[in-house]
Amino acid sequence: MKAIMKLRKENGAVEVVDIEKTAGPADDEVLLRVHSAAVCGSDVHAYEYIPSYQAFMKVPIVLGHEGAGVVEARGRNVTQFKPGDRVMGESNIYCGHCRNCHLGLTNICDKNLMRGLTTTGVMQEYALFNEKNLHLVPTALSFDEGAAAQACTVSAHGVLHRVSVNAGDNVVVMGAGIIGIVAAQLARLKGGNALLVGTDDDEAARLPIARKMGFQTVNCQKEDVAVYAEKLFGRKADFTLECSGAASAVVSAVDATKKGGTILLLGLVGKDVPFPFAKATRLEINIITSYTSTWIDYEETLAFLASGALDIKPLLSVYPVQEGVKAFEDAVSKKALKPVIRFL
Ligand SMILES: [Zn+2]
Ligand SMILES: [Zn+2]
Repeated sequence: MKAIMKLRKENGAVEVVDIEKTAGPADDEVLLRVHSAAVCGSDVHAYEYIPSYQAFMKVPIVLGHEGAGVVEARGRNVTQFKPGDRVMGESNIYCGHCRNCHLGLTNICDKNLMRGLTTTGVMQEYALFNEKNLHLVPTALSFDEGAAAQACTVSAHGVLHRVSVNAGDNVVVMGAGIIGIVAAQLARLKGGNALLVGTDDDEAARLPIARKMGFQTVNCQKEDVAVYAEKLFGRKADFTLECSGAASAVVSAVDATKKGGTILLLGLVGKDVPFPFAKATRLEINIITSYTSTWIDYEETLAFLASGALDIKPLLSVYPVQEGVKAFEDAVSKKALKPVIRFL
């Protein structure tokens, strides 16, 4: 069967390869015929093999953690899904037994495995899941949307569960990738006014798409974001959602946020950066982190997508599996906002 693998510990070295068909399922497992797998920012980091990934990621490995498809077969203990069901899978594999798992904080399970980084990923024709990590894809959604929904759950976890945006709040969203654009959509659904911040690179695809979706945008390489936000909103941001992972954005988030406001860190910076803690303290700015997502974030995201309240269709670019490497290259060059690779 076809799979997309990172083969060597260097920049690039991602190839479409033929590997032995996935065996199984075991008693507790579901075998998924993968239809679509989306390329995530972290897949791009894995492709580039940036320093913060070298420490923990396994190579060689089948990449990907955003996948959707059809249940092909199930083990004898599986009760929630049956062959033919359209499903998508969670990115993390949590243990279910540690203290955080019992508290529902499965995203920060003590023994978390990350598909496509620390254990085999979903960019292959057949993949195994535990049923507790699967969700039904509503009939209104395509497999492409079902796969990319995983990325949206990261925004949902942050915007819906880690902070509380209220009607009339001003929300600066740094980063115009899918996490940022969906975070902006969710902030808008909650009644907030969202301003999306991008860079020169984002002028090619991301910012025009964001504007088409009705968002105000600003290029932080051309304008001072804090000044721009204050002019636009009448005050600085009540919430700054850092979705870019850029070191400079983490620092400038402090300037964009009002006294007593909140910075939500959704992006993962490639390397640690000096942070103006004294300034943030004098402004009594709340700094909240948010990491991946939990079961409820998936259910809510899929419901929002099915109802049309969330829309990611304009963000997706589809590639057949044979062009899987190009999908990665276009993600790296930001030509494609959210590449989706089709295995069927
Ligand atoms: Zn992802
Ligand atoms: Zn656990």
